[in-house]
Amino acid sequence: MTKEKLGLNTICTHVGEIKDEQFKGAISPIYLSSSYEFLDVDVKRYPRYFNTPNQEHLSKKIAALEHTEAALIFASGMAAISHMFFAFLKTGDHIVLQNTLYGGTSNFIREEFPKYGIEFTFTNGSNASDFESAIQANTKLIHIETPSNPLLTITDIKKVADLAKSKGILTSIDNTFASPVNQNPVDFGIDLVMHSATKYFGGHSDICAGAVAGSQEHIDIIWNVSKNLGGSLSDFTVWMLERSMKTMGLRVKAQTKNARKMAKWLNKHESIEKVYYPGLKSHPDYELAKSQMNGFGAMLSFELKEGLDAHKFQKELRLIKSSMSLAGVESTVISPALTSHALLSQEERDTIGIKDGLIRFSVGIESIKDLKADISNAILKTVNTIEKTDA
Ligand SMILES: *Cc1c(COP(=O)(O)O)cnc(C)c1O
Repeated sequence: MTKEKLGLNTICTHVGEIKDEQFKGAISPIYLSSSYEFLDVDVKRYPRYFNTPNQEHLSKKIAALEHTEAALIFASGMAAISHMFFAFLKTGDHIVLQNTLYGGTSNFIREEFPKYGIEFTFTNGSNASDFESAIQANTKLIHIETPSNPLLTITDIKKVADLAKSKGILTSIDNTFASPVNQNPVDFGIDLVMHSATKYFGGHSDICAGAVAGSQEHIDIIWNVSKNLGGSLSDFTVWMLERSMKTMGLRVKAQTKNARKMAKWLNKHESIEKVYYPGLKSHPDYELAKSQMNGFGAMLSFELKEGLDAHKFQKELRLIKSSMSLAGVESTVISPALTSHALLSQEERDTIGIKDGLIRFSVGIESIKDLKADISNAILKTVNTIEKTDA
């Protein structure tokens, strides 16, 4: 079987399976051993070497999904990011980062890089020119995130990759929001693709994991650092992740379809000011998203009309949970102004477009009519509160 020719759901279901030679079971056995034969073996296996049978095999599925030669699985998305960055950056080097990064990534860079003398620049925007003007003579890596959190801006992947290539700079992307189902950045020239596997890979809000995919040469460089930093994932969770990933294609496609329907519906709702979703024709980068994504993803944000309280709205939802994290089969919402961006001042939030009424919506697989009913009802109750307070 040449895995490049296999369809998405076949890769999800089968690539990287471990054959159960002993009992002929239908699924990969789980190998929990942390100790393996040492004498006269080709591979010295050890969990922190990222090469137990389950780790090694699941990496093949991730590599196949991202169209790369190799991949590594980590204990979290942040372990994947930090091990990847530390593998390619040393004292005196410089990295260019998109301004709208996942909060944990920005914190990691701002808090840790100064200790190691690694220089960094956050761009002013996400156009190729914003990246170009941030490049210095010592720039070694450009890191992007598209679609971005929470306003779903779209970065032109190919333009940034071409720009970096012309200057001999490596590129990496956080592909968590799109997942490999909706976006394969390597096809547009990106070198390294990382994921918080806690999100769509896991998909059931019960796993914390991460992954990086790239060429064998790049993955070997990361491996050399990772074995020292030690962020490997336990085999039990690796096995859980394999189970989850079998349905990733089905889940994410269903979630994406739901998100598109919800975005269109919310866009027409009288109590919603604005909807941020790359699959809406009104999104400024709709055409760009269409050209580089296989689907528009299952994340969207919307702004409640002025005067409607985001906290109250979330409290009134019955089906949709207001909870941190995202990408599970269950729909969740959060208010960025009250959570991820709470530490910024009102003025700073206004400048970057995070209004108090902004709600980030991770769309699940529930029946559309129930999602609509839940939101309609919560809005009605939120509107009624205002009328009561006014009276
Ligand atoms: C959650 C997330 C991360 C961090 O992943 P963890 O598994 O929580 O460490 C990184 N990037 C994005 C876009 C995320 O959503």
